[in-house]
Amino acid sequence: MSQATPSSRPVALVTGASRGIGRTIAQRLAADGFAVVVNYAGSEAAANDTVDAIRAAGGTAQALRADVSQPGDVAALFAAAVAAFGCVDVVVTNGGVMKTAPIAEMSVDDFDRLLAINLRGTFLVMAEAAKHLQNGGRFIALSSSVIAKSLPGYGPYIASKAGVEGLVKVFAHELRGRQISVNAVAPGPVATELFYEGKSEQLVEQIVRQSPLERIGQPQDIADVIAFLAGPQGGWINSQVVRVNGGFA
Ligand code: NDP
Repeated sequence: MSQATPSSRPVALVTGASRGIGRTIAQRLAADGFAVVVNYAGSEAAANDTVDAIRAAGGTAQALRADVSQPGDVAALFAAAVAAFGCVDVVVTNGGVMKTAPIAEMSVDDFDRLLAINLRGTFLVMAEAAKHLQNGGRFIALSSSVIAKSLPGYGPYIASKAGVEGLVKVFAHELRGRQISVNAVAPGPVATELFYEGKSEQLVEQIVRQSPLERIGQPQDIADVIAFLAGPQGGWINSQVVRVNGGFA
């Protein structure tokens, strides 16, 4: 795979862009003219597939490995992004995991891992974004509409995403003076591995029926809203949680 050269395009860094919603966000931002950093944690081949798809469509992208829960990885990710493309204009913290179990049954190790990736990971990416984002840039974090449902088994996942929404509001205020908007996008159920894992067809059908639009969300439904927030028309939206869920919650 050829090495990317510093780009005259604006630069977007998307965590967890090897598959699912993150891959579609990366492809959409590339189509909108961004040079895209495709971050992944373990799925190197899938991340390279994302990059290949972007390049095949005429875009610019580079895959960079980093576990967002590790401070050293996140610092190295931003340093490598700047080395590859010169700057960072848009950051999307999408990489995340979900595990469900009643609070009484989830192990402390599983709780810690979920919080480390979803909440600590967002915190670490924010801290580096504060140092590296260009003035006038955008920061967008993935939350979840399931926060509003209080579903049994979702306690740790909801806690992690409620924490993300809290960080987003504070970060927006901490970046005062730099013309950087900071928002969260909170999807409802979206057709990815994260959503389908461990669910019966019957349960999926039951969840899908909760939306008045009677279908599951697609990664493109989410990527389109993120592209709007990242683009020239979304600049006046700041310190908000945009719930993108077909009416699910
Ligand atoms: P997927 O499981 O399809 O993809 C998850 C992505 O996150 C992968 O690219 C994965 O990379 C990456 N990732 C996982 N752990 C880490 C880590 N430690 N560091 C960096 N990247 C990591 O999930 P979705 O696309 O469904 O979810 C994307 C985001 O959207 C998540 O934050 C999720 O909570 C949120 N969301 C999803 C909903 C849904 O219904 N699908 C609903 C609401 C919110 P790798 O494969 O390399 O490990």
